[in-house]
Amino acid sequence: MILNKPYRLTKITKLTPEVSSFLFKADDGAVMDFVPGMFAMLQYKNEKTGESVARAFSIANAPPSNSLEFVIALIHGRFTSKLDTAAVGDLYYVSAPYGQFKFDINEGDKFLFLAGGTGIAPFISMLRQSAQTGNKSDAVMIYSTKFATELIYHDELMEYEKTSKFKLAITVTRPQPGDSFKGYEGHVNAEMIAKVAPDFKDRISYICGPPAFVKALKVALESLGADPKKIRAEMWGE
Ligand SMILES: Cc1cc2nc3c(=O)[nH]c(=O)nc-3n(C[C@H](O)[C@H](O)[C@H](O)COP(=O)(O)OP(=O)(O)OC[C@H]3O[C@@H](n4cnc5c(N)ncnc54)[C@H](O)[C@@H]3O)c2cc1C
Repeated sequence: MILNKPYRLTKITKLTPEVSSFLFKADDGAVMDFVPGMFAMLQYKNEKTGESVARAFSIANAPPSNSLEFVIALIHGRFTSKLDTAAVGDLYYVSAPYGQFKFDINEGDKFLFLAGGTGIAPFISMLRQSAQTGNKSDAVMIYSTKFATELIYHDELMEYEKTSKFKLAITVTRPQPGDSFKGYEGHVNAEMIAKVAPDFKDRISYICGPPAFVKALKVALESLGADPKKIRAEMWGE
């Protein structure tokens, strides 16, 4: 566990007009261990004015690492407005790792991942860890976004489909004329889960996304007869 440790912003990647990834590196280069699914508290400090604001962000890279990658929706709130003008070289402070939403790679060999919007972040960490460790588990993901243009890490996810026992289903809730994605349209529901992962009862389910998404999918899984003990969830945003 680290507390208020200086991390330097080393890379900013614009993924969509509203979402960017931010890569931070420990200023002393120290490696931190964590479990995919866990989050870090990232703190902005203005030494001149004394202003300080911290928010939780899921870690998107695989452990262990001297860097932390975050996928952040730039909603111009108290913390995210600081990121609007953030630049490579800026210093932030990290306390981590935290959280109960932990992907235990050894807990089972079949998983169901349900991701909504930036809720894809912890799953990227999970999949990267599996790829790096050569884990052979079988994962099926349903990844939902409002617009097709909001699908992030799509190429990386498609690569996992080729290289591991990973199956990706995409759904877009507000498809637009001219969209070229291949997948479903509309919100994830019980019917979609049963179609994409008919063996969902054998799988450990992880759900991450906005509260309405997470709550609806817990209900959907339970209504289908999935064991509540095999359902893990994390939520944020609106
Ligand atoms: C465990 C955990 C993990 C998280 N991981 C991530 C992550 O990986 N990526 C990420 O982008 N965020 C993540 N969040 C949310 C993050 O901590 C902040 O709440 C978010 O960035 C907004 O902070 P802010 O200070 O800019 O907005 P605030 O000033 O705190 O809020 C401004 C307004 O925006 C609303 N709001 C908050 N989040 C959203 C949203 N996503 N979309 C629309 N409206 C919103 C608030 O309800 C409020 O009305 C996570 C939260 C938790 C608890």
